[in-house]
Amino acid sequence: MASQLITTAAGLVDRHGRVATDLRVSLTDRCNLRCQYCMPAEGLDWLPSEQTLTDDELVRLLTIGIERLGVREVRFTGGEPLLRRGLASIVARTKAIDPDVRTSITSNGLGLKHTASSLARAGLDRVNISLDTIRPETFATITRRDRLHDVIDGMAAAKSAGLLPVKVNAVLLRGVNDQEAAELLRWCLDQGYQLRFIEQMPLDAQHQWSRAEMIVADEIFERLAKQFVLTPTGRERGSAPAEEFLVDGGPATVGIIASVTRPFCGDCDRVRLTADGQIRNCLFARDESDLRAALRAGASDEELAERWRAAMWVKLPGHGIDNPEFLQPQRPMSAIGG
Ligand code: SAM
Ligand code: SF4
Repeated sequence: MASQLITTAAGLVDRHGRVATDLRVSLTDRCNLRCQYCMPAEGLDWLPSEQTLTDDELVRLLTIGIERLGVREVRFTGGEPLLRRGLASIVARTKAIDPDVRTSITSNGLGLKHTASSLARAGLDRVNISLDTIRPETFATITRRDRLHDVIDGMAAAKSAGLLPVKVNAVLLRGVNDQEAAELLRWCLDQGYQLRFIEQMPLDAQHQWSRAEMIVADEIFERLAKQFVLTPTGRERGSAPAEEFLVDGGPATVGIIASVTRPFCGDCDRVRLTADGQIRNCLFARDESDLRAALRAGASDEELAERWRAAMWVKLPGHGIDNPEFLQPQRPMSAIGG
């Protein structure tokens, strides 16, 4: 029954009735920052280049995803996607498959100052920039690099290039930047950026995440509520993970993504492709499906599509972080594509 359902379903359906249409593509596992909640100071063993999908291989998989499997949104991430040579060409080739597919990047913003306009010309729709503080010394503590000004310049360039809305993702760390949440929100409001706070997840390569230490969504709300009036927007969240609040009556909003304490797995519409061509049906999946090996062994487009569907069909109902038997995935966030 299950296999019949898999083969007759056109899209990326799972046995719990969810349909994945939002593809996160990791373009590289490398990065030029070393955020504490993501990577160790010394970095990681990067993927050998021969294991990384070439641009042509990637575009072939994107074509299968879009034309055969119902992918409607492609987010390029990493590692740091701006480190991938040929990013603009990959974006342009994605748009050429179907101009209605929305494209975006999640980036730390380093170097975006120089590439924002060419990315916009290539057809990139939007950017998500990760920024946890606007204080240079806190930035250097979190990322272990003194590059705050580059990020701020990159964000301004994205705005000028029309890569809108510029969304900002922030992670709060206790005793590091948790006192700066309201200040960061004030700055984002002034600049016209849409800020979302994300609960820290157990995806760091060092395995130092602690449930007891993390700043939970309710705490984020309380900290912001000391300085702003926050009211629910009343909009249905749908598959969007952020709970959105109007700030001081709106129209500006702030989002809080309670990935750990109020998981949204039941509404998840995401699927991930790693830089080495593995399909992951969840950030926290412990299994992957190797499309690169199949592709290099000569699989047809329909065979690759069928493998991809089968990988999605077995997606678990939830990430289970709160279960005692929870095991952190072997790959860290930077190698999965956040
Ligand atoms: N380098 C890019 C960046 O930082 O935006 C893209 C990759 S990064 C892995 C994607 C997102 O994951 C960033 O917004 C980052 O803050 C977030 N992230 C990394 N480790 C995390 C963790 N342990 N918990 C929650 N978010 C995390
Ligand atoms: Fe790099 Fe992004 Fe991880 Fe920071 S969160 S180390 S910028 S991949």
